[in-house]
Amino acid sequence: MSEHVWCHGPNCHTYSTTDRVRGSKGSKVLRTRKVKIYDRSNTHMYSYFCSNGCYNDFADKHAEQIIRLEPRHEPLETPIEDPKKTKHESDYTYSDGTRHTWTTTDIKKIDTSNNVG
Ligand SMILES: [Zn+2]
Repeated sequence: MSEHVWCHGPNCHTYSTTDRVRGSKGSKVLRTRKVKIYDRSNTHMYSYFCSNGCYNDFADKHAEQIIRLEPRHEPLETPIEDPKKTKHESDYTYSDGTRHTWTTTDIKKIDTSNNVG
């Protein structure tokens, strides 16, 4: 069994798509889309917004309130090992005799999940 909510995008009802057209001839409207919720225990942004655009509209309109949910006054950090650079050389040789080369950098996170304290 599924239930629905109305899309929470503040501008959903203003986007000109045929699926939003409702009403009888002479009194047509663009209406907010319905969003189906299939599983109340497993909700996510698409449980409340019909599209990424409507989600962005909501986040833009309410950015200050959303940020207050989890204020950040200091940056977060993820411990990593010293990055390892590796130089690569392709088999392709340019007309001047040099080879195409490039460098990759391996960034490995340090697993801290078992640390105590
Ligand atoms: Zn929407």
